[in-house]
Amino acid sequence: MTLFVPVDEQSAEDKRWMEEALVMADEAFQAAEVPVGSVFVRDGKVIARHRNRTNELMNATRHAELEAIDHILSLYPPKSSEFPINPHGCPEGDNPFKSTTLYVTIEPCIMCASALRQVGIKRVVFGAGNERFGGNGSVLPVNSDPILQNSPGYEAVGGYSREQAIMHLRRFYLTENIYAPNPRSKANRKLKTDFQPPGVSMHGPNGQPTKKTTRKKSGLPAVNGNGSLGGSAPNEAGSESGSGAEGSKPAHPRLEEVALL
Ligand SMILES: [Zn+2]
Repeated sequence: MTLFVPVDEQSAEDKRWMEEALVMADEAFQAAEVPVGSVFVRDGKVIARHRNRTNELMNATRHAELEAIDHILSLYPPKSSEFPINPHGCPEGDNPFKSTTLYVTIEPCIMCASALRQVGIKRVVFGAGNERFGGNGSVLPVNSDPILQNSPGYEAVGGYSREQAIMHLRRFYLTENIYAPNPRSKANRKLKTDFQPPGVSMHGPNGQPTKKTTRKKSGLPAVNGNGSLGGSAPNEAGSESGSGAEGSKPAHPRLEEVALL
């Protein structure tokens, strides 16, 4: 279950750092990347600021969180030779993530949630949930599921600057996709400004995507418009990377396919 903190119960410090993450999301927007931004805060200081670079690098794994993990390890290389296989077993103070909180505008996806748990992040604060790819409870509770026994879980809370984070994405998906071979005109689309409450799908209380599934002539399993198996299977195109496969073409999904909580 995704934990959303009511606005009137959110701490001033958490809200302050989320504002900085939104600046990075805006930078991603300006760079024609899916606007997800993050800052990593350790001992009251930002040690890393990152955003998606999936289009720039043509690499669907280059989410803001993974970019930051690489950067932080270059800044604070652990001395323990055990770190690569057992980050949680390092001597006290040797693992920089153990005392670091991540502020990210959209709930980390399953891939990033797993990486963050693996390296031992202390805490995650996010803006909007992601009902199709979220790894902090919206799809899978990768951050806290006890079935993952190789590393302790981490606390994750959402709802911080949630509407601003969603509006960044909505504006982005109204723009032309400069990476698409045949960009579709979106001139007639209107920017939505209404919101469902936290935890309720933008598709409505039942959370049913409007996208129809299609079946290839080959008889292979049904695929959705993003090329992923099944209607609920994780596909980064709708959340963070924006470079999900449609065949081998980089392509952004339609606005209606961006499923946020
Ligand atoms: Zn991710």
